[in-house]
Amino acid sequence: MKTKAPVTKNETYTGTVMDLTYEGLGVVKIDNYSLFITNALPGEKVKFVVTKVGKSFGFGRVLEHLTTSPDRAEIDAKDRKLAQAGIAPLQHMVYPAQLRFKQHQIESLLAKNKLDISVSKTLGMDKPYHYRNKAQIPVRLVNGQLETGFYRQHSHNLVPLTDFYIQDPRIDQAIVVVRDILRQEDISPYDERTHRGIIRNVMVRQSHYEDEMMIGLITNSHTLPRAKEIVAQITEQLPHVTSIIQNVNSRPTNVIMGPITNVLYGEPVIHDSLLGNRFEISAQSFYQVNPVQTEKLYQLAIDRAGLTGNETVIDAYCGIGTISLAMARHAKEVYGVEVVSTAVEDAKKNAKLNGLTNLQFETNKAEYQMAKWQEQGLKPDVIVVDPPRKGLDETLIESATDMQPKKVVYVSCNPSTLVRDIQRFGERGYHVTAPIQPVDQFPQTPHIESVTVLEKVAN
Ligand code: SAH
Repeated sequence: MKTKAPVTKNETYTGTVMDLTYEGLGVVKIDNYSLFITNALPGEKVKFVVTKVGKSFGFGRVLEHLTTSPDRAEIDAKDRKLAQAGIAPLQHMVYPAQLRFKQHQIESLLAKNKLDISVSKTLGMDKPYHYRNKAQIPVRLVNGQLETGFYRQHSHNLVPLTDFYIQDPRIDQAIVVVRDILRQEDISPYDERTHRGIIRNVMVRQSHYEDEMMIGLITNSHTLPRAKEIVAQITEQLPHVTSIIQNVNSRPTNVIMGPITNVLYGEPVIHDSLLGNRFEISAQSFYQVNPVQTEKLYQLAIDRAGLTGNETVIDAYCGIGTISLAMARHAKEVYGVEVVSTAVEDAKKNAKLNGLTNLQFETNKAEYQMAKWQEQGLKPDVIVVDPPRKGLDETLIESATDMQPKKVVYVSCNPSTLVRDIQRFGERGYHVTAPIQPVDQFPQTPHIESVTVLEKVAN
């Protein structure tokens, strides 16, 4: 059947926002056709222009708020820039409403799947901004001058910006200092169209607990001209910088870092701590970006695991071992698995660095390793999983439940795969035994992190 959308591109309409999508866009229906609208909150009556018409849904932009929601936060001109950048897509919502939105997203997915499971209030931050410990900022030529900033969403135009709002302010300050040094040393910015120019990105990592900062200069060329002068300037103006690296990425790609890293100054790593364990973090390592909330998340996972010191724990998708090490202090032994081999090397090194000897790490796909452990007769008391957005492989759920752990602690960054996996665990006798707890790792954005506990419940 051929259907036609009841709206036309570039035409103006009026409607009331019914709901929010998981990305935080307002939903307006016209003749049962859904339009997703930026900067529109439930209950608001808006006049909007249609920007895109698809077969079963379209997109729009608000021209005027005819009524406003009590959940609406004031946005000034500077903040509007952030919205365009996609840096803080939920900033038009007051923070308590953002926390309710995240809880509600999980609740409605559960309800849609007829699952009677409750969700606790989202654990938020006292100060829900300036939280990110890492930035990777593009460097481009704008109006004849080297600039650092952001790409307007769905475009290739750099907009200069110095206050990124959700980053540690020390990072914002360092980016401006490095920008001015690059200007002064006459380093040419990268041009995507011609694939010429030298500097592509500036990466900054700030330690939360230690006075250490890493600056990464990502270059298109193999050598960085005037490297000595640049290093001397940076260390003079930013005395807390303990590591300066150059990373070479000469490929025409959106991936930020390339395969070669040269240390220009100091150490190749910076150090930071999580729940009392100290970690070495290299330029390319994955490390959680919100240190304050990560400690809350991990502590919750430890508490929910109910460790007494006698347990065997599996940490699947362990990264550089941050959860593994935290659990190892409260358990008999921990087995970690992770697919990226450099992360596993980091995990082993970090265990040693903290004097912990009750851990073993394997480089493997979690689904393969779980089957192997099961065949080998490993009997874990607790299995922790922290998978990427696509969630768990079905075979992992099979081997995990075959090992009959007392508890599965599921750290999730995607409610829709979480809910799917909860159903699969349910088919194998494992059910959610406590309310799901969302923890806000990414204030001002729609990302939802949560902890769920599953236990074998006899029917
Ligand atoms: N628990 C860690 C990392 C979580 S991110 C922390 O909190 O820091 C998810 C991790 O899963 C990443 O390190 C990614 O490399 C890894 N990963 C992705 N797919 C995987 C798979 N199939 N098997 C094992 N690890 C995988």
